[in-house]
Amino acid sequence: MSVDKNNLKNLFFPNKVAVVGATERDGSVGLAITKNLSDKFDGEVVPVNPNRDEVLGMKAYPDITSFPGEIDLAVVVVPPKIANQTVKEAGENGVKNVIVITAGYGESGSEGLKREKELQESAEKYDLNLVGPNSLGVISTPVNLNATFGPEEALPGSISFMSQSGALITAVLSWAEDRGIGFHNIVSLGNEAALDETSFLKAWSGDEGTDVIIAYLEGIGDGQEFISTGREVTESTPIVVIKSGRTEEGAKAVSSHTGTLAGSESAYEAGLEQAGVIRVDNIGDLFDYAEILSGQPLPENDKVGIVTNAGGPGIMATDTLGVAGLSLASFEDETLSKLGDFLPEEANIYNPIDVLGDSDLDRFKKAVDIAMGDSQVGSVIAISYPSAILGPNDLAEELVKIQNDHEKTLVSCIMGGGEVNSAESILREEGIPNYFDPERAVKSVGILNKYKQIKEREYQEPADFWVNRSRANEILAQVRARTDNRLGVEAMGLLEAYGIPIPDSEIVGGPDQAEEAAKEIGDEVVLKIVSPDILHKSDIGGVKVGVPVEKVRDEYEDLIVRARNYQPDATLLGVQVQEMVDAESGVETILGMNKDPQFGPVIMLGLGGIFVEVLEDTSFRVAPISEREGRQMINELESAPIFRGARGKEAVNIDKVVETIQRLSQMVMDIPAILELDINPCVATSEGVKAVDLRLTVDEDKLRI
Ligand code: ADP
Ligand code: MG
Repeated sequence: MSVDKNNLKNLFFPNKVAVVGATERDGSVGLAITKNLSDKFDGEVVPVNPNRDEVLGMKAYPDITSFPGEIDLAVVVVPPKIANQTVKEAGENGVKNVIVITAGYGESGSEGLKREKELQESAEKYDLNLVGPNSLGVISTPVNLNATFGPEEALPGSISFMSQSGALITAVLSWAEDRGIGFHNIVSLGNEAALDETSFLKAWSGDEGTDVIIAYLEGIGDGQEFISTGREVTESTPIVVIKSGRTEEGAKAVSSHTGTLAGSESAYEAGLEQAGVIRVDNIGDLFDYAEILSGQPLPENDKVGIVTNAGGPGIMATDTLGVAGLSLASFEDETLSKLGDFLPEEANIYNPIDVLGDSDLDRFKKAVDIAMGDSQVGSVIAISYPSAILGPNDLAEELVKIQNDHEKTLVSCIMGGGEVNSAESILREEGIPNYFDPERAVKSVGILNKYKQIKEREYQEPADFWVNRSRANEILAQVRARTDNRLGVEAMGLLEAYGIPIPDSEIVGGPDQAEEAAKEIGDEVVLKIVSPDILHKSDIGGVKVGVPVEKVRDEYEDLIVRARNYQPDATLLGVQVQEMVDAESGVETILGMNKDPQFGPVIMLGLGGIFVEVLEDTSFRVAPISEREGRQMINELESAPIFRGARGKEAVNIDKVVETIQRLSQMVMDIPAILELDINPCVATSEGVKAVDLRLTVDEDKLRI
């Protein structure tokens, strides 16, 4: 779906813009757009309407072809029946950029879907930068381009904003204007017949006017492409995203809303993280973070200095440091003595510095300046409540000076209303965000620090392990010959071929064979019924653990009886005789894979065993998975301390768990026919791991290719 367009310059910086469907009809979208454009646009507006000689005092043309000059951008607002024709004409006449405002496409049933397909084909054929259809339009403040039908203007700024909801743009613009927050480019993505979210990430990556990219997304078209693009873009430009539809109910609302098939939440969570995207839940956070990311230098470290004239808010800020991934700086001796020299005795010179409620401007600013000068301090948060001797505007002016002197992260938290609003404007002008709430100030600094880590993280190629391909192919050939696409422990050789350790085992067809195999394997063995019709073997008593060799024959018979009782016509492939694994001394984990429609194979790691359903302790990553990502998966588990050794248990061999995750990732990337897979449990001990159970589903059609 996504068209690879790195140069969208003329979309955002056109000279001549045609409005196809320009009109003066009251209440029409055509009028709203023509008005918005003609009001301010630096370039030329060309109304196109076969029924009028002029629109809003501008000469109108019957069609695009009749205009003598070159059109850089065509905004299409005509009804759906003729919109596609218009786009074709535009393409034939060398117009490269098109915004289709017209609705009635994929969002409105099968007719619309067909129409959208046709539009997509035109975009491809003429190599168009096509926004929409069903888009609110595009805004580009540097050239005063407002090609939307929204009622709002955007202030100039360095935030570029894309949204899959046009209505949200309108709402956000009015909200942002009240707060003096400005934008560089804004695009309403609409149905994304051609250009999609990834196209605009690319367009704004490293763009001079864009300091931060923000997005409201309901779905992502191509998850793999989004991840690789995001990874590159965030090396130069931070990306903050609201991805709605976290809950199942929300996701349903989304798919009926825009026609995007919402991927599973865990895939999005993982995919956005792997793309280096900062994910937020609400518009407040979106702009808190956008502001600090666009205005402030990245902190040198995660150590924070806090200056306050009020004890309480200072404590609130300190309390939040941990969850924000920050910590309290301990000051250099020089800082302490400088502070001690001028602060009253009752003041606190240790971090958080409390300059006391009776502090005047001079005392407060000196303390901030000294904290900013401490080489241990990565960022400073200046928290104050206004008083008769500490006026917000004066303080704002001083903070700006201090910031310019030190060029270090500084955020302000002047708590209050009234005059604070004008102080906020002074600060914002210089890129210093002001927060009413100390907690928000801390969280924002935390995000700035997080972005620094994202920017610095080096991309790791997923490992390419040696694989016993002939063995893997042999097993796949056997699978192909079967009629069932559900496989169990009989396919464990596949894991082995990919270097994932499995216990010694053999599948047998009779009691004699079972006993013979057991003698080879150990004094005690595990017996498992092998049948595609029995998914949960232990539920029917189909697993016998710790069977001594002399009992193997009896237990074998018992297993067959149980299976027959459960389902007389069940396909029985035999019984697996398996080596005993010391599950007691290790940790039972679950490793799994599910295919997400947007992201492809997603690997899951979870704590297995008896608590699995209760705890739901799982982590996810989109394959292919690098070593670092594998390690993160373990660290993200609530039960990570158990892996590192807890309650007298030995630590498990974490390197081997990470390696197993990577090997599984390689396997599912290599064999797309695997639709889902479960290794439950994969037992991890201090020695390594052993996969003792396997379940997978394959796509038979794909296997045949
Ligand atoms: P299922 O999940 O179909 O019931 P499993 O093969 O996972 O069957 O076996 C059930 C449980 O038996 C496992 O969760 C594990 O606790 C135990 N188990 C299975 N195989 C072994 C083995 N080789 N060594 C030790 N314990 C095992
Ligand atoms: Mg199992």
